[in-house]
Amino acid sequence: MSLLVIGTVAFDAIETPFGKTDKIIGGAATYASMAASFFHPKINLVSVVGDDFPQDAITMMQKRGINTDGLQIKQGEKTFFWAGKYHEDMNTRDTLDTQLNVLSNFDPVIPEAYQDCEFLMLGNLMPSIQMSVIQRLKNRPKLIVMDTMNFWMEIAMEELIKTIAMVDVLTINDAEARQLTGEYSLVKAARKVLTMGPKYLIIKKGEHGALLFHENQVFFAPALPLEEVFDPTGAGDTFAGGFIGHLASTNSVSFESMKRAVIYGSAMASYCVEKFGLERIVSLNDEDVESRVQQFVDLVQFDIALV
Ligand code: AMP
Repeated sequence: MSLLVIGTVAFDAIETPFGKTDKIIGGAATYASMAASFFHPKINLVSVVGDDFPQDAITMMQKRGINTDGLQIKQGEKTFFWAGKYHEDMNTRDTLDTQLNVLSNFDPVIPEAYQDCEFLMLGNLMPSIQMSVIQRLKNRPKLIVMDTMNFWMEIAMEELIKTIAMVDVLTINDAEARQLTGEYSLVKAARKVLTMGPKYLIIKKGEHGALLFHENQVFFAPALPLEEVFDPTGAGDTFAGGFIGHLASTNSVSFESMKRAVIYGSAMASYCVEKFGLERIVSLNDEDVESRVQQFVDLVQFDIALV
């Protein structure tokens, strides 16, 4: 049983109030697969890069047990590039540049060895490509989680809606939930999304935590109050990777398991924002993950004797 992760593998240039980076390694699938690798031993990656992408970064993923056989390297082409600038509050950002490069004609190939996929993470990518991956799997996975962003809502809404209809869990942030549904109230927005196909919706609210909706139930996970948020890039993908990685490791898709998975995802995301890019995630070990999850448990645990 394997976990398949698709999404961008990218170069990012990031500007935050704390500093600025040149091209560093990023990408939705990079963050998601790295985070998931702390929970599940069999992670298969499908993505594409150009010949400008460093072998070191591929080795970094392989060292975490990620199978990169499905990562296409296009000779003579350039890797996807994204540049973003965060505002003072770190909860909002402007995209300064998106260069699709290799992504513009990406045709995902699913290696035969990936066909045992039971958990599928559709990381942020063109919705048509996300859809083609679902179609190219011989059996529908037990759970399909999809992430997306405002960029695709602006240029590919029709395909996005069709793809959303095919998944089990959608993860988006609060602004994206409003943009997708036209509802300001997140509860109303959630109700609408749950009629569009997904049985579960996760709305990420940055430093204000995350909400998990299912039927008439809602679960809230806080974000860890951190003294300093250094760089929020990849926090959403890291959250998604921790979320699906935990579910895959327990092989369960119940609402109770999803609640726990939201906490694991939040714990991974809280580490991600502590340094630029993937730096903090790369430095972690299993004990770090467990102790961070314990902090979340302590943060929300209380006793009330109701009469
Ligand atoms: P997040 O901060 O979780 O929203 O994800 C940031 C990552 O998403 C960066 O590493 C980017 O390379 C990647 N990214 C930015 N724009 C896009 C896009 N339009 N499609 C796919 N990935 C993107």
